[in-house]
Amino acid sequence: MKRDDILALPKVELHCHLDGSVPMHTLEELAEQEGIPKESMKGAIAPADSGNLKDYLATFEVILPLLQTSENLEKAAYAVVEAASREQVVYLEMRFGPLLHQRKGLSTQEVIQAAYTGMKRATEDFPIEAGLIVCALRHHSEERNTQLFKEVAELPEGMVAAIDVAGDEANFPNAHVQLAVGEAREQSLAMTIHSGECGSAGNVSSAMSMGSRRIGHGVAIKDDPKVLEAVRQKGVLLELCPTSNIQTRAIPSFKDYPVRYFMEQGIDISINTDNRTVSNTTMTDELMLLVEYCGLTVSEIGQLTRTAMQHAFADEQIKEHVFRQIEAGYDEKQIS
Ligand SMILES: [Zn+2]
Repeated sequence: MKRDDILALPKVELHCHLDGSVPMHTLEELAEQEGIPKESMKGAIAPADSGNLKDYLATFEVILPLLQTSENLEKAAYAVVEAASREQVVYLEMRFGPLLHQRKGLSTQEVIQAAYTGMKRATEDFPIEAGLIVCALRHHSEERNTQLFKEVAELPEGMVAAIDVAGDEANFPNAHVQLAVGEAREQSLAMTIHSGECGSAGNVSSAMSMGSRRIGHGVAIKDDPKVLEAVRQKGVLLELCPTSNIQTRAIPSFKDYPVRYFMEQGIDISINTDNRTVSNTTMTDELMLLVEYCGLTVSEIGQLTRTAMQHAFADEQIKEHVFRQIEAGYDEKQIS
């Protein structure tokens, strides 16, 4: 299977961080506008081996100063959705932590509105559907994160598809966000929680008991048969992000990537970029790596794409529309 063949396939991406995925040309444009040397934007790409999740996340300090106004946030959100559409992503869920974008005084609502506006505008200009996921950050206080989810619940319906918890899992496990997630649950917000990325499988268990229907990463369950069985029985989806997992040393190498193992175990999985720019990747690249190292076939990619869409935080009308595109795209392809 050639790269161009994969590029042409319709794709679904559920785990993509807005700030970590702003295309380089947009970052450079925003840097120039803010009086920051555009050469410094090279620091937005994490080393292939970042050592650990904490060091990987440090890369975001290059990007975040640029995303502190409504105008820049809208532009960035638009550019991420456009970039995804240009590689035939037909459905994208884009996530971000509003509390990271308030250095110049924007309110939570203003931040979310700006990202939403940029995202929506791109869905009108390109053949892609998209949804927004709001992340709480693990290192923020329970009070701030609880308040964040309260404000999300007050937004007009359909503006935010779900909530998430992201950040340094090793130092701030799920116990640290229990109250905030409890608030989200009370407000009936759909949720996916980063868990079992660089922490333990136990975090995946706690995320499920908190009501998470999907798990960001979750790769740690490969070494814990009990949690793996619970994930299978509950039909919870793992949002896998291969390149990112290798950069943070969650998984030692691509040939060890447990994609086939999870498929054999009947675990629902989806393939994602995590951070298109920070991880210097695309959906096409991620799938290509799995074809090369794990022997994924085109019909398996089709199956993973359908599974991802089944777990999307989208309404039925959008799901039906995207499923039609997926079916048409895979029907047309006779790829060996
Ligand atoms: Zn992530």
